[in-house]
Amino acid sequence: MTEAAILSTRDQSRADVVQWTCPHGQHAGRGCVTCYHASAEADPSLPLWDVAAWFTTARPIPIRALQDVHRHDRGLALTQPSTPLVYLLSGQVRAALGAEAVAGVVGFLLQNRHIVDEFTVTEIRAVHF
Ligand SMILES: [Zn+2]
Repeated sequence: MTEAAILSTRDQSRADVVQWTCPHGQHAGRGCVTCYHASAEADPSLPLWDVAAWFTTARPIPIRALQDVHRHDRGLALTQPSTPLVYLLSGQVRAALGAEAVAGVVGFLLQNRHIVDEFTVTEIRAVHF
């Protein structure tokens, strides 16, 4: 099962917004610190999600900070596909819902403001095994 959303402030239907709201009322694309912490000790019986979140930043993220993400967190990777100032944060997390999985992964950015202080998530994807 794949759930994906291209986020824009203009044309997002109400149904999409509901689908991508985590149990704490945060939009998955904005991230949720509670989901981020929950994913660290998720029940192993919960589904495993392959999450990808593309985001843009106002300033480039130093290469060193990109590489540090690995060491730093359980299986998350922060890469720069090709376009300047567009980044991809990806990883596998366990969560009941795709929205929780994405909110948890994006929550990593909220917890690590030294990596990126301001970001806008433009597209999210959660694939469920
Ligand atoms: Zn949450």
